[in-house]
Amino acid sequence: MKYPGTIIKRGSRNVDAVKFVQNVVGVSVDGFFGAGTEAYVKSWQKANGLSADGMVGPASWAVMLDSQAQKPEEVAGPKVNLASGSVVVTGDKGADIMNMVTVDRTEWDMTEPERAAKRSWSQVTGIEIHYTGSPEPKSLTFSDKRQWLLNIERYHEKTKGWSDIFYNMFVFADGEVWLGRNPLVQSQASLFNWLTVHVPGTVGMELTEIQKSKIAAMADIVGGSLRGHQERSATGCPGESAMRFIKSYRAGSYEPVAPIDWEAIALWVEAVKSAHPDWIQSDEGRWYGWDGEAVVEIPTEQVAERLAAKAAKEAAAKAAAKEAARIAAEEAARLEAERAAAEEKAQKAAEEAARLEAERLAEEAAAEVAAEVARLEAERVAAEAAAVAAAEQEAFIRANRVAAEANEMKDERSVETDETEGSCCKRDQETEISGLLRQLINWLISIFKK
Ligand SMILES: [Zn+2]
Repeated sequence: MKYPGTIIKRGSRNVDAVKFVQNVVGVSVDGFFGAGTEAYVKSWQKANGLSADGMVGPASWAVMLDSQAQKPEEVAGPKVNLASGSVVVTGDKGADIMNMVTVDRTEWDMTEPERAAKRSWSQVTGIEIHYTGSPEPKSLTFSDKRQWLLNIERYHEKTKGWSDIFYNMFVFADGEVWLGRNPLVQSQASLFNWLTVHVPGTVGMELTEIQKSKIAAMADIVGGSLRGHQERSATGCPGESAMRFIKSYRAGSYEPVAPIDWEAIALWVEAVKSAHPDWIQSDEGRWYGWDGEAVVEIPTEQVAERLAAKAAKEAAAKAAAKEAARIAAEEAARLEAERAAAEEKAQKAAEEAARLEAERLAEEAAAEVAAEVARLEAERVAAEAAAVAAAEQEAFIRANRVAAEANEMKDERSVETDETEGSCCKRDQETEISGLLRQLINWLISIFKK
């Protein structure tokens, strides 16, 4: 893995880099760089001749890469009990057991001198399980685990007067394996072929799956023998839970649980980060948040405070949303009123246009009527004129007739008197004049008729 470019230290959020470091320094690999990992890094740095500041910079990283390249894990081998982290079996019993160790004796007990081996790994053929019968250590932090082991050591060495802490190894509830008495020094004479393994904190609760898988791996490695202290002497040790597990292992019915799902953990961490600052609750009911660099557990009283603040914030947001909705409704009503007014205006304009059109049509009709009236009047005038002309013609005719009658009467009189004084000429003249007059009247009549 390439150096990530920034120093990996306590609180570091680069989960992959932290896991790499944890794998190298031998702490349980959980991707969270806390106090425990820091302590392991320091002791690893010290062991590798580096400045023990607990921070992994380029120098420490380079040595870590080298050490990984040389690790026997790189050699393919059969794997057993993969419940947490891989336990690699190379066939070298001692190397395989010691590869499972997370914390060496000197890391938690600086003053204890290394005791010389009294047996070889080939002579170790079984695992004997013990417990203390108390729910300890207080927590799974490095310092609580260390303090608890120091208490046991003091009890064994000072109170009991034994040469050393009794147990060869400890498997904690988180799967960490801590070294006690040199594994090549038996706990007592009768345990020459047995590795004594203590499972802390099991009173009133089940062994954790990871504890079971680590113990099963140890038993596999040493040859398959696994027993509880109570199977050797009269004691309740190592408790019911451990005994149930031991019997299922021997019956071949023990199945390690699925490996830890680191992807799920990474997703959970991302969820915590994205949920910040509202925090999220784990399955166990504890609260976690992202402090900008790492996932941190939130104290209960802070959670209550924060939840109250969150509720208040949500209430305020709800009120603001309500107010916004009210304003929007008002605006909608205003727009609707505007629309209605515009519609009414358009309606009126349409009505006015219709009215004007009707007026225009009426005017047109009136004009047509007027034209008809004028035409009829003209006809009437023409008819009148014709009537007048007819009357005048009648009058002429009558006048003509009257004139003709008058002439006839005159003729008759002249016939009586014509014999004298050559009045014939005068009569002829008169006759000629009345003929001309008749002609004139006829001409006028023809003109009128036209
Ligand atoms: Zn015991």
